[in-house]
Amino acid sequence: MTILVLAEHDHQTIKPSTLSTITAAKQLNQPIHVLVLGNNPSGAIAQAQILDIEKVLVGDDTGFEKPMAETFAAAVLDIAANYDFILAPATTFGKNILPRIAAKLDIQQISDVIAVVSPKQFTHPIYAGNALQTLETTQAKNIMTVRPTAFAPMTLNSGTAAVEKIAAKPVASRARFVGLQESKGDRPELTSARIVVSGGRGVGSKDNFKMVESLADKLNAAVGASRAAVDAGYVPNDYQVGQTGKIVAPDLYIAVGISGAIQHLAGMGGSKVVVAINKDPDAAIFQIADYGLVADLFQAVPDLIKAL
Ligand code: FAD
Repeated sequence: MTILVLAEHDHQTIKPSTLSTITAAKQLNQPIHVLVLGNNPSGAIAQAQILDIEKVLVGDDTGFEKPMAETFAAAVLDIAANYDFILAPATTFGKNILPRIAAKLDIQQISDVIAVVSPKQFTHPIYAGNALQTLETTQAKNIMTVRPTAFAPMTLNSGTAAVEKIAAKPVASRARFVGLQESKGDRPELTSARIVVSGGRGVGSKDNFKMVESLADKLNAAVGASRAAVDAGYVPNDYQVGQTGKIVAPDLYIAVGISGAIQHLAGMGGSKVVVAINKDPDAAIFQIADYGLVADLFQAVPDLIKAL
């Protein structure tokens, strides 16, 4: 049995989400191959080489420049017969590509794994994180997305893997890449940040949200938001934390003017320490907060910024 991990990378570096996926793969106790698809992804290959894995497989072609589900899934399918497990992080990258592979192979995907109980048993959240299910697979081949925040990233410099080119070329597709709009900034990336400061509807406006951003900057934190704040246009939707947003598990999560709806908790419930600032003492967020401040955020946040 060999495991294939499809790498998410920016051509230069392997994303921490993939390093966490390899940690999960390690728990299956079988040789691991990491597939790097890209257009001259030399930096990513060099990083994959020094991981504690058996082999780095490389698909290097201009057609692999962007991680399109159509081309990436076809490349994986070309070698899928060699593997009993195919893994990718449960990020937009993995969530986009792996279901296509599972469907083509007529396999039921195991999604969002947070624990490997045994090489056949896996735990993952269901009902928007309201319950954890441990399932046992009876499939000969398994396609799995792994929640990165549940596994520590594998350290680089832990091995010396062989590199091998795959034969697959990008397939012709009716889908084509048109453009990528990314919000770029100096702040840490939301899903891997050590500290996250999130604002909700209580913040009241786009202008007021600058206060949340100032607090984040004081703490060198990433900025998140509830869906209500995103829907109200205070911040772009890639800030959204929750069931239909990003999953975060920082050391410190500060929720400002967020009520604590179950769909929000689904995205940040794994945070180590939760601080909530809300003027309503009955807000649900206080049920999961380690530190709760019942206060008007327009008073509390500037005070906090000043104190910091
Ligand atoms: P509210 O619930 O309106 O809470 C605002 C809070 O601010 C209140 O608790 C209030 O007391 C407090 N407040 C107001 N003024 C002040 C003040 N001056 N000082 C201090 N506190 C103040 N939500 C997500 O966040 N992420 C998701 O991914 C997500 N996915 C969803 C998926 C589905 C299918 C559905 C149905 C819903 C989803 N939601 C999601 C929406 C979710 O149900 C809630 O509506 C949303 O999380 C509420 O956001 P909020 O806490 O900012 O707003």
